[in-house]
Amino acid sequence: LLSLEVATVRFGGRAVLDAVDLSVAEHEIVCVLGPSGSGKSTLLRAVAGLQPLSGGRILLSGRDQSGVPAHKRGVGLMFQDHQLFPQRDVGANVAFGLRMQEASKAEQATEVGELLEMVGLPGAARRAVAGLSGGEQQRVALARALAPRPRLLMLDEPLGQLDRSLRERLVVELRELFGRLGTTVLAVTHDQGEAFALADRVVVMRDGRIAQSGTPLEVWQRPADEFVARFLGFEN
Ligand code: ATP
Ligand code: MG
Repeated sequence: LLSLEVATVRFGGRAVLDAVDLSVAEHEIVCVLGPSGSGKSTLLRAVAGLQPLSGGRILLSGRDQSGVPAHKRGVGLMFQDHQLFPQRDVGANVAFGLRMQEASKAEQATEVGELLEMVGLPGAARRAVAGLSGGEQQRVALARALAPRPRLLMLDEPLGQLDRSLRERLVVELRELFGRLGTTVLAVTHDQGEAFALADRVVVMRDGRIAQSGTPLEVWQRPADEFVARFLGFEN
């Protein structure tokens, strides 16, 4: 579905994304792990069309995306600070993600209701965003990101602001949800527990390069090098 071929992003002279080759198959859930500043968010922004490449290319369903604007790529991106509109209710926030802006209010409301049910917030459309817990807001943001039914859903630290017990619960729910919907997911996290629980495949980044790519078990059992081993918390 997605492939990056020697994708490079330079800021000043520095390659923040350094000749990255990466493929994501249909229905696959890939989690990108790596320390702060390793280029994870830049990778997602480049795929979303929010960050032009300095070199290489990005293909979606085999089509070169250079020059294709963000809103025409059919990918969804949920930012770390989910950026809900606090003064609008839950329903309006989710409806913002719908592509069928010209559909009737009733049709939109049905669709919003379905999306809220999917993320475990049935009947919440009329609730005020400000009155929701952090976990509930995260679910609303997820419903909004799912609203256009993107062929590729990208999540940047989707559970970043939540406490550990809620994260662990949500990760299980998300994996189940993505499996049910057949959603292809590229998610960024710096929490390895989250990545290992969510992903079919884990990609570890270091300084704009891919240090290792493999199933959670492979990466856990056979870290490619000392950097990966240390990042995973092994003491040599
Ligand atoms: P974190 O885990 O902290 O979110 P990250 O892996 O997502 O980190 P990026 O946000 O991709 O890291 O940034 C990678 C590097 O690129 C950082 O050193 C950052 O300072 C730099 N960078 C990102 N955007 C820009 C920009 N617009 N101009 C200059 N440098 C930038
Ligand atoms: Mg980031």
